[in-house]
Amino acid sequence: MKTLTLTDRLLGFFLGTMAAVLVGFSASIYAVASADLRRQTDDKLASALDTLAAAAEVKPEGIEWEPHERTVSLGDGPMGGRIAFSVLDDRGRVIDHSTPDPARDGWRTARRWLRAENPAATAVEVNPGEVMYPGIELVAELSPEPVRAALNRLALGLTGLSVLVWLVVLGTGRWICRRALAPLTRVAASAESMGIADPAARLPGTGAGDELDGLVGSFNGLLTRLHESFDRQQRFTGDASHQLRTPLTAILGQIEVALRRPRDADEYRRVLASVQRQSTHLHRIVESLLFLARADADARLPGLERLDLAAWLTTHLEGWNGHPRAADLRNLAASGPMWVSAHPLLLAELLDNLLDNAVKYSDAGTTVALGLDGGEGGATLSVTDLGCGIADGERAHLFEAFYRSPESRRRGIAGVGLGLTIAARLAAAMAARIEVSGRAGGGSRFAVVLRKA
Ligand code: ADP
Repeated sequence: MKTLTLTDRLLGFFLGTMAAVLVGFSASIYAVASADLRRQTDDKLASALDTLAAAAEVKPEGIEWEPHERTVSLGDGPMGGRIAFSVLDDRGRVIDHSTPDPARDGWRTARRWLRAENPAATAVEVNPGEVMYPGIELVAELSPEPVRAALNRLALGLTGLSVLVWLVVLGTGRWICRRALAPLTRVAASAESMGIADPAARLPGTGAGDELDGLVGSFNGLLTRLHESFDRQQRFTGDASHQLRTPLTAILGQIEVALRRPRDADEYRRVLASVQRQSTHLHRIVESLLFLARADADARLPGLERLDLAAWLTTHLEGWNGHPRAADLRNLAASGPMWVSAHPLLLAELLDNLLDNAVKYSDAGTTVALGLDGGEGGATLSVTDLGCGIADGERAHLFEAFYRSPESRRRGIAGVGLGLTIAARLAAAMAARIEVSGRAGGGSRFAVVLRKA
């Protein structure tokens, strides 16, 4: 089945609405006209009965019908309809009537009784040709034909006019709908011709500030975000490939050199140890990349639990006892409990990343202090070192994947640039944030602000 275009649907809606309006409008006009003619008919019959009543002489002892002494002129009904009358005595006998009409079926009728106050029991002839009745009934009738014909003409006229208007709309509607939808068609055409490679490509706005303009604006906003995300992904892939290539090249080079000629066992052991070092590094990078990919895909928050941060920190630091810098770690947390909402495994991974950096970027023998602070904004777990610190311009980039400060490169400190990216993801998963302070050469402080529980 052929699918309807937007123009077809709009036209259908337009024609349907038009038909409903025309039918409603015509029916209303017809109803008003027909009620008005019925009212005119009733008025005319009432005034015909008044005229007839005026032709009778009403006395206390009886009523005389005197049409010859008083003129009975009933005129015409609405639209020239004929009015007929008859006068009946109290026994239903016709005393007088208008010129008889051949057929009076369906005529509209009005009746009125005239009665004397103290009538004789029966009709009495008072003078020759003059009869006094105890009561008479006046009947006026009006031919409905002219009104019916006028209403039929009106119905026909209204139907014809409505059909004509509807046909004109049908003829011009498609053109009108196409014109109304032209901006939409233009936007669709430019979307179709748009290449994904051009980051500056945007849909043209209508400039009218209408709904379509709003839609184009939102769509362009989405395009901007998509391009930014695409750029980030590309940079990330490029950086990741670069980071993986360096140890891989080293491994391949060493193996190639080792295989050029036979070597003794010590030589092979030395090469294998170097290959193992490089592979471990490679493994760490791959693990970090896998974690970041999983964290992106699984945006759900893990189940957080209520945790005493002070007690947890003391226990966690016991795991650092065997580390070469264990003696430099100072737990400055107050002894009282501090309840937070966190995930113990994620928090452990996050704190270990910060501690790894603190010991990596500070000299052996300098203190690395851990502190807890329960301020208004949440519970803060901080790691402060007295190392190389962070220059002002670098702070904004610390959490970008593969970012490494020039100072850390210059000093030849080993690293990949993924530790803080992972730490930021872990913090976000616990609805926490990481704040950084410190200056070049003056040590640094990384603080995780957790929600209190
Ligand atoms: P990596 O340590 O592997 O380089 P990170 O993501 O952990 O990667 O850190 C990114 C960069 O942030 C580091 O290269 C370093 O320049 C800086 N940085 C992180 N922690 C500290 C710290 N405690 N003191 C000084 N600089 C730091």
